Amino acid sequence: MIRLLLRGLVIASLLYLGFPSIYAQSDPFKVVLDPGHGGKDPGNVHNGYYEKTITLAISKKVEAILNKEKDVDVSLTRDRDVAVDLYARGPIANKKSADVFVSIHCDAHDSNAHGAGTFVLGLHRADKNLEVAKRENAVIYREEGYTENYAKFNSDAIGVSVIQEENLNQSIQLAYKVQNGLVKRAGRRDRQVKQAGFVVLYGTIMPSILIEVGFLSNANEGAFLNSNAGQQKVAEAIAAALIDYKNEFFMNSIAFDQPTFDSTTYYRIQLAASDRRLSENDPFFKGLKPIYRDEVSAVMRYFYGRTSSFQTAQELLKQAQNKGFKDAFIAEMN
Ligand SMILES: [Zn+2]
Repeated sequence: MIRLLLRGLVIASLLYLGFPSIYAQSDPFKVVLDPGHGGKDPGNVHNGYYEKTITLAISKKVEAILNKEKDVDVSLTRDRDVAVDLYARGPIANKKSADVFVSIHCDAHDSNAHGAGTFVLGLHRADKNLEVAKRENAVIYREEGYTENYAKFNSDAIGVSVIQEENLNQSIQLAYKVQNGLVKRAGRRDRQVKQAGFVVLYGTIMPSILIEVGFLSNANEGAFLNSNAGQQKVAEAIAAALIDYKNEFFMNSIAFDQPTFDSTTYYRIQLAASDRRLSENDPFFKGLKPIYRDEVSAVMRYFYGRTSSFQTAQELLKQAQNKGFKDAFIAEMN
């Protein structure tokens, strides 16, 4: 009997391209940090403060904090003052099979605007956020061969890639954690989580955000962001948000039996059945991994884990129940 357990669940995206690969339990949580600008592209320069220098300093501080976590693997798209083309940054994270991509920037405005904002990729053609995206995207017109590299991209009418659409829920979850941290821990004015068409986020295939940590054009905030103490506060807020996100969505405390696929019987934990197609990373699964999907006619059944040990299956069931899957049960498979 098929049980429909997904009632009440709101799913933003039904677009789907295939089941994401299942990660081994021993895989670390992989973070790719993207310090905005660099080399011949200084980013915005105000009050003697260089965006490219500040984004690199903050990224390195985030890296240093995350390096102390034993199950986090962190790397940077640039670790010194060099130019990296915008279109090339996402693929660096893709090649590493990163779990999240975090682009770090500073904003500027001719008003006295200040505060931090966190962005996920979106289509907001007439939105005021377009101006931020245009500022950050402007560098592409100075890159060689930009007409070929950005053929699919039109910053006035960017579409959200199917893959980023699929990741949108996760990107938003991460964005809110970072934004909260920037306000509460780093004391920034809350410019909120928003969507805009950033080129750099367009090319990634994992949950991705772009952070504008503050305005260099604002004398006070510029001085804060240019200071070692200010950068450390911002870095601590970002790192804490990433760790929080990892703990919520990537926690895997149980070591699986090596699956014995030739054995006649094995166990999986059935979490739900639905006609909706969900990705393994969907927040619905609350970070449980690996998730398997069986498709029987139009109905999809979702399972957590796979083991030949009934005892392990009971532990997995308990873990699923602790995550809120009260009706989960052990399914014996042959
Ligand atoms: Zn920037």
